[in-house]
Amino acid sequence: MINKSFDIVIVGGGTSGVSAAYAAAKDGMSVALIERQKSLGGLAVHAEVGTICGIYKNSFDNHFEYNVGTYAREFTNELQHLSKAKPLRDNSGLKFLPYSPRVLAEHCEVLLAEQGVTVFLNTQLVQVANEVNKIKAVHCENKGGPFIIDCKAMVDTSGVSLVSKLLNLEVINTVLNQSASQIFTLSNVDFENESNLSLVLMTAIRKAVINGELKENQNRLYLVPGSMTNGEVSLKVTVPKEVGDDREELRSIALNAVHEIVDFLITKVGGFTSAKLKSIAPHVGVRIDDRPVGKSILTGDDVLNCSKTEDFIGYGNWPMEIWSQNRRVELRHLQENDHYGISAKNLISNQIENLFFAGRCISATDEAIASARVIGTCLQTGYASGKLASGSINVKKIQETVREIQKEQF
Ligand SMILES: Cc1cc2nc3c(=O)[nH]c(=O)nc-3n(C[C@H](O)[C@H](O)[C@H](O)COP(=O)(O)OP(=O)(O)OC[C@H]3O[C@@H](n4cnc5c(N)ncnc54)[C@H](O)[C@@H]3O)c2cc1C
Repeated sequence: MINKSFDIVIVGGGTSGVSAAYAAAKDGMSVALIERQKSLGGLAVHAEVGTICGIYKNSFDNHFEYNVGTYAREFTNELQHLSKAKPLRDNSGLKFLPYSPRVLAEHCEVLLAEQGVTVFLNTQLVQVANEVNKIKAVHCENKGGPFIIDCKAMVDTSGVSLVSKLLNLEVINTVLNQSASQIFTLSNVDFENESNLSLVLMTAIRKAVINGELKENQNRLYLVPGSMTNGEVSLKVTVPKEVGDDREELRSIALNAVHEIVDFLITKVGGFTSAKLKSIAPHVGVRIDDRPVGKSILTGDDVLNCSKTEDFIGYGNWPMEIWSQNRRVELRHLQENDHYGISAKNLISNQIENLFFAGRCISATDEAIASARVIGTCLQTGYASGKLASGSINVKKIQETVREIQKEQF
């Protein structure tokens, strides 16, 4: 079997994995990023989530002030420029940036190419080899067959705590299930603006549920804000099934839900009568999975009380979003203009000395990850995890790397 060798291996090419790879390579490390899909971006690209949340301070004015470190700011500034997008504010003071998924994937490619990261696409990580409490190598598979990469440190940005599971380490099991959503795009819709479309949509669906034309759980349809251009709009439907292990079944139920709701819109709702189903995002958007256990665990109280920690490596300020089967999304807001700090200890394994985490699989409770999983936070935890992994190879104390991150980013 062919053996390769890199300082750091990152599993997962979503926004957090790309950020981790960028930071570690910028620090002079040789970095391999393993991604099983054919392109980078993870959920931000393949589920077409459509907006970057958690990057701006939330307030009722129209001033878009960043709430994140330098790297996340630069990433989103460039994305805004390339997507020709404008940041938006909703009625509750939440601010976010719409983006094009294709542009985001290309931006990730450029960033990694600039830093000389070796990217293995269409490649699955299948096994992790460790000696006592240290990872030594990872086993991968792609069309060319299996291969092994020796490494000095690893970052798990798989979104699913893959490394901890492969090593049979304890994980934080999901108890508060979050429903999945399927995003799709319609063309030829006839509305003046998004507020108008949203109002028509909500009213028509509510009425249809009362009349018995739609089932109660078909009332979970949302506009992707900022997506309406040239008669096209993206919508997000909650998948009417709890997320389980069978992802093929989930996708098939999601596709059915999309077709049913599109048929309803076209036949029954003015403004949609000439609409066409243009595309359906290639992946169902599964929001959370089990998380790994770090040296400390971010909790729901930390989030809602806007706790600050001395060893912060990033800020979060997005409300907890609870997506369930039996009602529309519930938002638990933080104090206006405030934030919580994410500790470096949320990114460092409590058992394996050279294992780090980022993105939607940091060490956090169900409630905390319901806020910390947004892309603005993923960019920051991703960047910090790459620096922490690189610092560990350079035998730096964690505190020293944390100070470096804080000085450089905040
Ligand atoms: C429906 C939905 C709507 C959302 N809306 C928003 C929003 O509007 N704004 C916002 O900011 N956030 C939103 N989010 C949250 C956000 O999109 C995600 O939490 C974030 O993109 C996660 O990034 P990540 O890098 O941590 O993980 P992911 O994007 O999940 O990336 C993990 C990557 O790991 C790869 N991987 C997994 N296992 C393996 C393996 N064995 N080998 C190789 N590769 C592997 C996967 O293919 C994937 O590409 C939404 C999420 C969903 C589901």
